[in-house]
Amino acid sequence: MEWIDLRSDTVTEPTPEMREAMAKAELGDDVYGEDPTVNHLQELSAQMLGKEAALFVPSGTMGNLAAILAHCARGDEIIIGDRSHTYLYEAGGVSALGGIHTFVVKNRNDGTVPHDEIEAAVRVDNDHFPITSLICLENTQNRCGGSALSVDYTQGVGRIAKEHGLAMHIDGARIFNAAIALDVSPAELVASADSVTFCLSKGLCAPAGSIICGEKAFIQKAHRARKMLGGGMRQAGVLAAAGVVALESMVDRLREDHIKARRLAETLVELPGISLDFGTPASNMIFLQLDNKAPISGEDLVHRFTDKGIRINASPSGQIRLVMHYWIDDEALAQVTDAFKEFFIRA
Ligand SMILES: *Cc1c(COP(=O)(O)O)cnc(C)c1O
Repeated sequence: MEWIDLRSDTVTEPTPEMREAMAKAELGDDVYGEDPTVNHLQELSAQMLGKEAALFVPSGTMGNLAAILAHCARGDEIIIGDRSHTYLYEAGGVSALGGIHTFVVKNRNDGTVPHDEIEAAVRVDNDHFPITSLICLENTQNRCGGSALSVDYTQGVGRIAKEHGLAMHIDGARIFNAAIALDVSPAELVASADSVTFCLSKGLCAPAGSIICGEKAFIQKAHRARKMLGGGMRQAGVLAAAGVVALESMVDRLREDHIKARRLAETLVELPGISLDFGTPASNMIFLQLDNKAPISGEDLVHRFTDKGIRINASPSGQIRLVMHYWIDDEALAQVTDAFKEFFIRA
């Protein structure tokens, strides 16, 4: 069965063009820095993000961890949002492996943490306290409805970081979605950050891999951290080749996912018992909330949709996240819409 899979944009398989590029990729040993395809991907990434250098890593989780390890010493503290991926979903790696403390601040529904709350979280110099060394942002902010942090907001955080001698890292797993949502260049969006990670394996459809970008000296440190974490890959050009196709031909296309998300959300919100947790989707994610007027529970819906070849996730509280991506075409979208109508409009 061909699945219509709306659980995440991570489910995207490589495009035919990617598979061809992977088969033909020129290779070398990347631990020696000798894989031309990896090197090309890294140069292209740095250029697109407006940074000096870049590093290919196996996953976004490792990208964030290697970047944070490169910025922080053991016992340092990072300021991080309570709905950020690094805080929630990366197995506590910064603490477990980096000995790094987290000062958790509250994300608002639009993904921001007010500037004054970030500033208030910066520790003063006192032997009792950990040393604040890094502020982490996420853009787009997944658990805030895929919202995009603006250039203005990000610059404001950058100013706080500078004033206090801190670094700023952006988990930009979906930074290209953010740039498209805001109609700015990705480089402009991360200009005030010292480092950024982004994923090739989400809406960009590459099978695996993420990129860390930053200054040369920082990337050298991240390179060492990557090795320590076991992320030094050998003929990684096979994967990087898909990443090059992703950056060259899949970025602008993300706009279509945002349009699809908005269209589907507009239809679904008209159905009884469905509301939008974060309003109109800002990027490629729709967050639905089922209330007591809904004729079916989230859990039942998951099962009934599975029978129809549609994969979704629902939380026990009735929140459903639907993620748009390359492999969801108009026909799939129509099938999803019909399936919702079947269960939510009962004669
Ligand atoms: C997916 C994701 C990551 C981690 O990427 P993996 O490749 O799954 O490890 C990090 N941050 C955000 C916001 C993500 O959505």
